[in-house]
Amino acid sequence: MSKKTEPNFYESVQQNFDRAAQFTSIPTGLLQQIKVCNSVYYMQFPVKIGKDYQVIEAFRVQHSHHRLPTKGGIRFSQKVNQEEVMALASLMTYKCALVDVPFGGAKGGVKISPREYTADQLQKITRRYTTELVRKNFIGPGIDVPAPDYGTGSREMAWILDTYLTFKGGEIDAAGCVTGKPVSQNGIRGRDEATGRGVYYGIREVLNDRSLLKKYGIEPGTEGKTMAIQGLGNVGYHTGKIAQTEGDFKIISVAEYEGAIYSEKGIDIDELVKHRKKTGSILDFPGTVNLDQRKKTLEIACDVLVPAALENQIRSDNARRVKAKIVAEAANGPVTATANDILLKKGVIIIPDMYLNAGGVTVSYFEWLKNLSHMRFGRMEKRFDQNTYLNLVNLIERQSGRSITQKEKSIIARGADEIDLVRSGLEETMVTAYHQIREVMMRKPKVTDLRSAAFVNALGKVASDYMNMGIFP
Ligand code: GLU
Repeated sequence: MSKKTEPNFYESVQQNFDRAAQFTSIPTGLLQQIKVCNSVYYMQFPVKIGKDYQVIEAFRVQHSHHRLPTKGGIRFSQKVNQEEVMALASLMTYKCALVDVPFGGAKGGVKISPREYTADQLQKITRRYTTELVRKNFIGPGIDVPAPDYGTGSREMAWILDTYLTFKGGEIDAAGCVTGKPVSQNGIRGRDEATGRGVYYGIREVLNDRSLLKKYGIEPGTEGKTMAIQGLGNVGYHTGKIAQTEGDFKIISVAEYEGAIYSEKGIDIDELVKHRKKTGSILDFPGTVNLDQRKKTLEIACDVLVPAALENQIRSDNARRVKAKIVAEAANGPVTATANDILLKKGVIIIPDMYLNAGGVTVSYFEWLKNLSHMRFGRMEKRFDQNTYLNLVNLIERQSGRSITQKEKSIIARGADEIDLVRSGLEETMVTAYHQIREVMMRKPKVTDLRSAAFVNALGKVASDYMNMGIFP
């Protein structure tokens, strides 16, 4: 297929939507309402960079107001454009619905390449962008709640909160106006790793799903399975690290901006990150070979390929060369709609973005709840649980006449900390959502791929929200 017919990201999302919609009985008008973006805010503002002023272009798109606040990250990238942000905002709606996070979808984009700015300049841009959002009532704990995305992190979120507070200082729930904040600034433990951890849980669920795997001739279990990762940012790093330490995966290839590496024996992700910090590149990492092109990672023969960078990476021109058995969409939209069909025909399992990377927004939801409750998770029950378990262990000791060591006791008699609860809530969310997707496939035999099933599930929930509001009875 020629390049011209390759759908852009937004078109891909629309095509996937349409395909799934035909498996539902949602009325056409309602489908139309769900599909469109409710509000698109395009702004241009001047920022003084060095001696000159630069006009910065930026967006905030609220895809669906069926639940409030709307929610979604802010991306800093030179490639940001309106349709990209619209696609990302749409995905946020479906993602939240699928994992039962009660938000509408949104997304922000600032068209800059963060590498080209100092931290001070980035701070100026972030603060000005936030000011524009405040001005137009596009941010607030009950309105629209941004978070990190490609090119942003907890540092930017702290700037956003601080700017918001300068305008809305007296608002009791102000801290909930943005998530992904540093823990010291009303953030939550476990948010940094959340997307990657969710990606790992999602892959693990698929690899535990014997009835699905049987159709594809894949052995169940994560141990010893090979993985290739595109992108060593927040999502790629945590996915690789957790897959390696908790799932015994062997990471055989990693690609980044500067190139790609391969090792049959496996790559230690933490060592690789150290090497990159020291040398400025993942290339020439001892025990690995450099690949001649970074996109070669996408074509490595492996069990699980994890595109964890940007959209449109697997397209009609390279999809046929993908040799992975499972493509795990850690990024948003890494596979175009055309490539999606090619991979499905080849018998590749695609774990869709809207499910697989939902761990980020799930833990954002926990952070927002923490902000509204003004209290750390675990504070009330930790000691109580600990004492109850301890009493129980002591009772068993007395009754049985046998005793255990102090260390064993402290492992058994432990109350949950915030991080334990966040991980537990995240795992529960990812497992439950996977089974909801599979349940659609059981109920509707015509739905044979995980993406369409995820869409059907999400659309059903959004549609019933609209109906419950009395719109579209
Ligand atoms: N940017 C992330 C995503 O695409 C997280 C959004 C959030 O936490 O609100 O899902």
